Amino acid sequence: MRVTEEQTIITIGLKQLFIRKRSDALSERVRRLLVRTLYTQPTSLAIGAVNGIVSSAITAAVSGMPILFYACIALTFVAVARVTAAFGLSPDDTGTSTRKLEIIYEIGAFSYAFLIGAICAIAMVHDVGAAVEVLMMANALGYGIGICARNAGSPTIALGQLALVVAPILLAALLGNSPIVHAALIVNLVLLFPAMASITLNVHRVLRDSIASAEKSAELAEKMKILARTDVVTGLANRAGLDHQLADIMAKRTDDQMLAMFWMDLDRFKEVNDILGHTVGDELLRQVAERLTEQVPENAMIARFGGDEFIVVTEVKHRADCEMLAGLVQEEINRPYYVNEERISVGCSMGIALMPEDAQDLNELMQASDLALYHAKINGRNQASFFTPVMTRNLVRRKEIEAELRAAIQKDELSIFFQPIVDLESGRIRTFEALVRWFHPEKGELRPDEFIPVAEETGVIITLGNWITAQAAKACAQWPEDVTIAVNLSPLQIKAPGAALGILNALREAQLDPSRLELEVTESLFLDDSDVTGKFIEELSSKGVRFAMDDFGTGYSSLGYINKFPFKKIKVDRSFVSGDSANKKSEAIIHAVAEMGARLGMDIVAEGIETIEQVRSVRDLGCTLGQGYYFSRAVPDYLAAMLLAQEREGDNPLRKVG
Ligand code: C2E
Ligand code: CA
Ligand code: CA
Repeated sequence: MRVTEEQTIITIGLKQLFIRKRSDALSERVRRLLVRTLYTQPTSLAIGAVNGIVSSAITAAVSGMPILFYACIALTFVAVARVTAAFGLSPDDTGTSTRKLEIIYEIGAFSYAFLIGAICAIAMVHDVGAAVEVLMMANALGYGIGICARNAGSPTIALGQLALVVAPILLAALLGNSPIVHAALIVNLVLLFPAMASITLNVHRVLRDSIASAEKSAELAEKMKILARTDVVTGLANRAGLDHQLADIMAKRTDDQMLAMFWMDLDRFKEVNDILGHTVGDELLRQVAERLTEQVPENAMIARFGGDEFIVVTEVKHRADCEMLAGLVQEEINRPYYVNEERISVGCSMGIALMPEDAQDLNELMQASDLALYHAKINGRNQASFFTPVMTRNLVRRKEIEAELRAAIQKDELSIFFQPIVDLESGRIRTFEALVRWFHPEKGELRPDEFIPVAEETGVIITLGNWITAQAAKACAQWPEDVTIAVNLSPLQIKAPGAALGILNALREAQLDPSRLELEVTESLFLDDSDVTGKFIEELSSKGVRFAMDDFGTGYSSLGYINKFPFKKIKVDRSFVSGDSANKKSEAIIHAVAEMGARLGMDIVAEGIETIEQVRSVRDLGCTLGQGYYFSRAVPDYLAAMLLAQEREGDNPLRKVG
C-alpha cells in the first residue's frame, strides 16, 4: 500500500500528539512524585516554621507594633497548620488525596511566604531598628531562596513563593529613605528572581529526567521479567512462570480450598516433530494451547512444561469437576488438527492430583500428578488417571525392579520355563512356549507381567529378549525334530537395529532349524504401521521362521494384519476360553476365528484351558491346538524334556484330551 503525503502528515501529527500527551503525563507523574516526597519530609518545613515564628515574634516584641503582633500570630497559625498537615496527611497512589494535599500545601505555602515577606517589609517601612530588620530580611530571603531548592519539583510553588516573599520587601525598598542602599537592595532583589528561576528550572529538569529514566528502566525490567516467564511458542507460562504463579496461588490458598493439578502429555507428539518437522510441531502446540485455554475455567493457570507437556491448575469444588474437565479437555485435544493442509491427530494422557487430598504442598502435588500421568501412559495412553497412594508403592517397586533387572540376567536369577501347546486331536505336544521367570532372592518369584513392561520401558528388553531367544533355541535343539519352540517378542525388540540378524544368529549358535522357531507377537506391534515391522517379518519368514498372532481378541483384532502378514497361528486370548468373561458370545467369536483359520490353513490355539470341558468346547468350536494349566503349567527345561521323553515312550504324560 502506498502511503500518501496526507497520511504521513496525519501520522506525524498523531505521533506528536502522542509524544506530547506522553510527556504531559510524564510531567504530571514527576510532579506528583516530587510533591509527594515533599510532604513525606516535614522536618525542613518545621525548622523553617520555628525560625519564622521566633524571628517575627522578636521583631514584633522589639517594635511593640500591634500590626506586627497580628502578623506574627497569623504566621504562627499558618506555620503550625502546615507542619500538622504535612505530618498528619499521607498521600496515596490514587492521586485524589495527593491533589487535595497539593491544594492545602499551596495555600499554606503562598500565605506563609507572603506573611514572612510582609513582616519584613513592615519592619523596614517603620524603621524598627537595623538589627531586627537584618534578622527579618535574612529570615525572609533565606526562606525564599531555600524554598526554591526544596520545591524544585513544582516550579510554580517554588517561584510563586519567592515572588510573594520578595514583592512586599521590594515595595518597602521603593518607599525607603536611603536611596543608594535601597536602590542596591532593589537591584539585588530583582536579579535574585531570574537567578533562582534558572536554578529551580534546572534542578526540576534534572529531577524529571532522572525519574523518567528510572521509570523507563523499571518498565523494561518488568517487560524482561514477563518475557522470562513466558513460553515463546504458545504464549502460555513456561516453567519459570509456572513456579512463580504457583507460589502465588499457594500463598493465597485457604485451607478449605480444593486445588486440582492436571498434568498432560501429548501422545505421539515426537512423531509429528520427527516426520513433519519442528515448524509444524510448534504450530500444533500453539493450537493445543488455544484449545486448552478455551476449555479450562477463566481463572485457571495454564503452563507449557517443556516439550509436549502442559499443566493446568485450577480451583475445584468436587472431584467430579475434575472428571468433567478432564473429559472436556481430552475430547477437545483429540479432535484433528490441520497444519499446512496436513491432518494431524494426537492423543493426550493426563494425570490428576488434588490438594489437600493427595498432597500437602506444591512439591507433593506435582509429584502426585506426575505419577498419575505416568500411570495413564503405561495403561495405554490417551486416558486420564487420578492419583492414588498405590501408585507411590508401585513406583517404588518399579524403581527397584528397574535397578535390579540388568544385574539379574548376569546373576542367573532369570530362567526360562516351558509350557506345552497340545494338539487337541491327538493330545501330543507340538510346541513349547518359552516364558521367562525371575526368581528374586528377596522378593521371591516375580511375574513377567510385572518386569517385562519395565524392561520395555528401560530398553533392557533388547538384551533380555536376545538372551531368552538364545536360551529357548538351545533347549529346543535338544528336543525331537517335530517339536517347535514359541518365543514372545516385544515390539521394541523388533524395532532395534539388527533385530532379525540377532535372532538368526541365536538359531545358528543353537544349531536350530529356523522352521522350528515361532515368534509370538501382539497387535500393538502394528500400531505405528512402520516399514521396519514388515521388513523384520519378511526377512525371518523367508528363512522359515513362523509367526503367531498372540492374545487375539484383546486388541483391535484387525483381520487386516492377519491378511497382510504371513501368520501361521492365531492364539485366541484366554479371556475367551476361561475366566469370568468367557460366555456364549466368546464361543461365537472363537468359532468364527477357528473357521477363518481353517480356511487360511492356520492353526488356532485356545489359550488358558483349565478344565476338560473347556478342552471339549474349544475343540468343538474348531480350535486345533490348546494351551493351559489343564495340560501343564510352564515347567523348567529338564521337565519339558522329560514330558517329551515319556510321550515318545508311548505313555502320554499329559491329561487326556478326550
Ligand atoms: P502370554 O504370552 O499370553 O503368555 C501366556 C501367559 O498365560 C503365561 O503367563 C502363562 O503362564 C499363562 N497361562 C498359561 N496357561 C494358563 C491357564 O490355564 N490359566 C491362566 N490363568 N493363565 C495361564 P506368564 O508366564 O505370567 O506371562 C505373562 C505374559 O508375560 C505373557 O503372556 C507374555 O506377554 C509376557 N512374557 C512372558 N515371557 C515373556 C518373554 O520371554 N518375552 C516377552 N517379551 N514377554 C514375555
Ligand atoms: Ca505368548
Ligand atoms: Ca497369549
